Amino acid sequence: MSEQGRGEDAADPLLEVRELTVHHGQLRALDRISLRVFPGEVYAIIGANGAGKSTLLRTIAGLHHPTEGSILLDGQDVTRVRPERRATRGIVLVPEGRRLFGSLSVEENLQVGATYARKGPWTIERVYELFGWMRERRAQRTAQLSGGEQQSVAIGRALVANPRVLLLDELSLGLAPVVVQRIYGMLPQILATGLTVLLVEQDVSQALRVASHLQCLLEGHTTLEARPAEVTAEQVEAAYFGLNVRPGPAPAVGERSEPLWPGSTRSSRAS
Ligand code: ATP
Repeated sequence: MSEQGRGEDAADPLLEVRELTVHHGQLRALDRISLRVFPGEVYAIIGANGAGKSTLLRTIAGLHHPTEGSILLDGQDVTRVRPERRATRGIVLVPEGRRLFGSLSVEENLQVGATYARKGPWTIERVYELFGWMRERRAQRTAQLSGGEQQSVAIGRALVANPRVLLLDELSLGLAPVVVQRIYGMLPQILATGLTVLLVEQDVSQALRVASHLQCLLEGHTTLEARPAEVTAEQVEAAYFGLNVRPGPAPAVGERSEPLWPGSTRSSRAS
């Protein structure tokens, strides 16, 4: 794979995963997965239910132990570093399903995120500036918030830790498309503070809109790795569903504005 055009041709990857294999009991959830995420880029992992996307992010965050392979942050091997130490080194996860403390307030949840914080630009005040509604409702219990608001608090909780690499696990899950777009619309402001993003999405069209690089997983295997501009929608679809693809000219997915295949996401369940 060519690294040309990834914006950091001369740079080393900030996050590197080498030949990662992860088991859940007898199940091989990931089979020798590798990726290189360069500073400032948005790298998207796509794939259907059960492809292994969450397992990959959770293993990078230290929540699952790999059977084989390694994870490097800025060239340093962190494969055996405990999750909270990984957070202080700069790997911070926004988990699937938000996992907020529902009985705690917005601000208390943000304070939890700051527990293992690195020094950096993100403070609770800065999160309130990013999400305009939040300051006013900082005393509200998060269980009372809408799904989109909860997702914003989950992102804020990760940001106040001042990550170098922000891991986003299915932000769109259970949210109405308009809410998903609003949340993804915050990404440029987040990236502008120097972060690098590795995200997992079932909503392929959404992932392609924001990603500079993508990898498709199917049953724990890599079926595609490319820049969106380099692949056709047909190739992405084939990789996603495990189909054989016919060769031939077609617009690259990066040039498409319409959804790839309606109904392939779970984001249409409004909350
Ligand atoms: P989804 O979009 O449904 O979350 P995914 O691509 O994130 O899918 P994973 O959640 O990583 O996939 O799951 C990959 C496989 O590992 C699935 O077969 C799943 O049932 C299994 N699995 C995930 N977590 C565990 C666990 N803690 N114990 C046992 N099996 C698990």
